[in-house]
Amino acid sequence: MKNSIETVKIMDISFINTTKKDLLHYHLFPKLNTGQQCFVVTANPEIVMKAREDDTYKQIIQSADYVIPDGSGIIMAANYIKQPLQEKIPGYDLMIDLLKFAEIQGLSCYFLGAKEYINEKAVLQAEKQFPNLKIAGYHHGFFEIDDSVIADEVANSNPDIVLVALGFPKQEQWIAKHKDKFSKGLFMGVGGSFDVLAGEVKRAPKQWINLNLEWLYRLLKQPFRYKRIIKVFEFMFRVILKK
Ligand code: UDP
Repeated sequence: MKNSIETVKIMDISFINTTKKDLLHYHLFPKLNTGQQCFVVTANPEIVMKAREDDTYKQIIQSADYVIPDGSGIIMAANYIKQPLQEKIPGYDLMIDLLKFAEIQGLSCYFLGAKEYINEKAVLQAEKQFPNLKIAGYHHGFFEIDDSVIADEVANSNPDIVLVALGFPKQEQWIAKHKDKFSKGLFMGVGGSFDVLAGEVKRAPKQWINLNLEWLYRLLKQPFRYKRIIKVFEFMFRVILKK
């Protein structure tokens, strides 16, 4: 990680140890104001496990300016190794705060990813919630990562923020591959956040989140994701094993 910020290392991935508020005020907002490029990864246990299995992907995650702890599993692992993290920072909340800031500052955002109708619905919602936000452009997420026509289109729109909702590992791979085409921009992989913004997927109720059971809520709603939950257990097992 390039920036001077306290981190906690979990399975070779250095997570920032700060609050969402401080991350925004002391790091992300100043970078947006000065047009400095920056790469944000919101990492959950599945991403850490993928990095463990794929060295190229690990290098991409390690090249990020900020790796955010997004998921109760990461918080529990940090507690277990006795290096507690200050706060879980949900990627969705960070995205909404960035959009709020962009609206106030007159910055622009490109929305890349999700199914076409969800992508359009998410942009409509963003326009509704943040009427003064500049939409640099939008495109669905079903294309090849190597597609340079789409990447050039995004770069030519000169966005201040690029939200990439292709799911992991694609979103981080796309950012790593194409960010040099841009002269500025905060790049962030946002997973299923457009589905939530579009109102197609519901986040877990607050009580579930507070009990660190967001993963169980998701599993009950989307049972086909069970393989991912197995990865979360494998992650916890490896953290315990390593200690
Ligand atoms: N997606 C996409 N292109 C792809 C694969 C997935 O745009 O090639 C989208 C998918 O439609 C969804 C998001 O990426 O909107 C991934 O959502 P998921 O809930 O799996 O995200 P994660 O759990 O990885 O954060």
